[in-house]
Amino acid sequence: MEHNTLLQIAEEFGSPVYVYDAEKIKHQYQRLTSAFSKVKHLKLNYAVKALSNISILKIFNQLGSGLDTVSIQEVQLGLKAGFQPEQIIYTPNGVSLTEIEKAAKLGVQINIDNLSILEQFGTKHPKIPVCIRINPHVMAGGNTNISVGHIDSKFGISIHQIPHLLRIVENTKMTINGIHMHTGSDILDIDVFLYASEILFDTAKNFKNLEFIDFGSGFKVPYKTGDIETNIEELGNKLTKRFNAFCKTYGKQLTLAFEPGKFLVSEAGYFLTKVNVVKQTTSTVFAQVDSGFNHLIRPMLYGSQHEIINISNPKGRERFYSVVGYICETDTFANNRRINEITEDDVLAFKNAGAYCFSMASNYNSRYRPSEVLWYNNKAHLIRRRETFDDIIHNQIVIDL
Ligand SMILES: *Cc1c(COP(=O)(O)O)cnc(C)c1O
Repeated sequence: MEHNTLLQIAEEFGSPVYVYDAEKIKHQYQRLTSAFSKVKHLKLNYAVKALSNISILKIFNQLGSGLDTVSIQEVQLGLKAGFQPEQIIYTPNGVSLTEIEKAAKLGVQINIDNLSILEQFGTKHPKIPVCIRINPHVMAGGNTNISVGHIDSKFGISIHQIPHLLRIVENTKMTINGIHMHTGSDILDIDVFLYASEILFDTAKNFKNLEFIDFGSGFKVPYKTGDIETNIEELGNKLTKRFNAFCKTYGKQLTLAFEPGKFLVSEAGYFLTKVNVVKQTTSTVFAQVDSGFNHLIRPMLYGSQHEIINISNPKGRERFYSVVGYICETDTFANNRRINEITEDDVLAFKNAGAYCFSMASNYNSRYRPSEVLWYNNKAHLIRRRETFDDIIHNQIVIDL
C-alpha cells in the first residue's frame, strides 16, 4: 500500500492500528488457485487463526474459499461470516470430545488427530464421516515452535499407528472421508514437502471412501528482502502431476485441499505505530513506539523480523535504531535496524502484519488492543474499534472487601 494512504489511515483512526489490503489477499488467493489450475477439484480452506476478523472472513467467502478452524469459536465466526457448514473444516488439537460433538452438530467437517477421540467419536457417531490427521514425521518448518510434523510433535496420528487406526475404523464402522497432514510452517524445500505427500498418498490407499486429501499448509512468505519464499508455481506443477496420478490409481477424482493462513494474509497487513520517545543511550538509539508485545508478539515469540518503515520520513537519512515498545518488560521489535531518520510522533509501519499479529494480541499492561482497518475498493473501512476501558473491566467482578 502507498505510504501516504497508510499515513492518512493512522491520522484518521489513530495509532496503533492494523491495516489490511483486500487486494493483496485476493492476489495471493488467485496465485495459489492458478498454481493448481490443473487439479480438477481444488479447495482452499483459509486458516482462520491467522487473522480472524469477520470482515476478512467475508472476503474469503466472496473468493469461494472454505475455512480451516481450530476451535468451536472459530467455527462460529465462520458461520457468522456467512459460510455454509460444509465449507468449514474443524482441525483441533487436544480438545474434548464434547467440543468435537458440538462442531459435528453444526455440520462442519470433523478432522480428528488422535486415536482415543477417534475411537470414542466413531463408536458414538459411526454415521458422521471424519477426516484423520496424519503425522508423517517429516521435519519441515522454520523453527521448532511452528514445526509440527516431526517425531515428537503432539500433532496428528503417527504413521506408525496406522494398523491400530485401521482396527478402530473397522470396529466402529465409521467412514473416513478425508486424510490430512500439516507438517508445520515455512516450507523451504519443495522436495521435503513432496516426500511427506508420498507418505500421505501411501496412507490414503488404506481408505476406500475418501473424498479429499488435505495437504495442510506451511507456505512461506518473504519477511525481508532476500528471504526465500515457497515456490508456489513449482509446487503446483509437481504436486498436481503426482496428485492426478494418484487419483487415477485410486479410481476416483478426489479433491485436493490446502489450508493456508500466512500465505494468504501476511503481506496484506501493516501495523502502524507512533513513536513516543527517541532515546539516545551511550550505545544505542531507541525508538519507542506506542505498542509492544501486547499487540505484536511474533518478534519476541518466534524471533521473526518484520520490516519497519518510517512512513513519516521515507526519504530521510538512514540511521540505526532499536525499535522497542512501551511495555514494562523487554519488548524489542528490531535491533539496530537501518531506518530513515526518526523523530518523535513519526509513524512506523511494520510489514507482514496480517498473519498471527492481531490474532495474538493481548491486554497485557492493561492496554487496549488496536483497531483494525480494511482497505477495500480504495476506501478505508474500520472493521474493529479500538478497545476502551470498559473492555478491560468488562468481565471483572468487583467484590466488597
Ligand atoms: C495454523 C494452521 C494452518 C495455517 O498455517 P500457515 O503457516 O499460517 O499457513 C493450517 N492448518 C492447520 C491445521 C493449522 O493449525
